[in-house]
Amino acid sequence: MIPVQRVAVTERLARLCHNRTEKIRELGATSKAAGDEWGRAEAAKSEIRALLERMAPGVQRCMYCLDNMGTDIDHFEPKSRAPLRTFCWHNHLLACSRCNSNFKREEYPCDEETGECLLIDPSTDDPANHLELLLALGEYEGKTRKGEESIRVFGLNREDLVLGRLDAYITSCDVLNSWHRKVKNGDLAGAAQSATALRREPFGDVLRALETLGRLPYATAALGDELAESLSVWLRTPQPDAAAGRPHTVPPSRSASPDHRRVGP
Ligand SMILES: [Zn+2]
Repeated sequence: MIPVQRVAVTERLARLCHNRTEKIRELGATSKAAGDEWGRAEAAKSEIRALLERMAPGVQRCMYCLDNMGTDIDHFEPKSRAPLRTFCWHNHLLACSRCNSNFKREEYPCDEETGECLLIDPSTDDPANHLELLLALGEYEGKTRKGEESIRVFGLNREDLVLGRLDAYITSCDVLNSWHRKVKNGDLAGAAQSATALRREPFGDVLRALETLGRLPYATAALGDELAESLSVWLRTPQPDAAAGRPHTVPPSRSASPDHRRVGP
């Protein structure tokens, strides 16, 4: 998982959502009322989906697995648990049907004492504070209870995702080195194409983990001379985010692991 930046809701959508929420309230704020109103709210859903697609990593990827296309509007806090949040913009994320219907479903674990939700919301949490991606294994390791519960509920270590991350690791290293060679040779158009391709790849978490490693003082020892140098130049080069048109910046992670034995295939 990687952070996603929530865009501002439009006035029209805010009005549509307010009206639907008031209707659910009139009907007793039950789970059934929430489901019925959601089922018939085609205009609101169309607008919510369009906004979520603008926020989604890569090419409209699922915000949980970063692999499949995001096809579903997920209610982060399920409608059945919070009927009045059914039309809350801050409760909507874009998910693939596998993450949404086969894994997360109606789960919403909370801390028994504080009531805090124990799932990572990538629009409000930095996943790197709760999860560490072990690039050499393609697997996530929980750093906090929220991280561990997120791995379990979203199925982040399922086999297809682990294999996909391992492939993405190889591909990302190759493309980063290719990008750097083009920059050095003055082929700026070719370099821009490589950069765009890399940012659009599924598994944006692999690139982000590489960027985090590239900032560490022992990056060369961990990654090798060529890749460490490519990453160093990559990190100093401002790059537009193709999906959202915002600057390509990755906040330094507090989670950088000092264990470089975990790096590399
Ligand atoms: Zn997914």
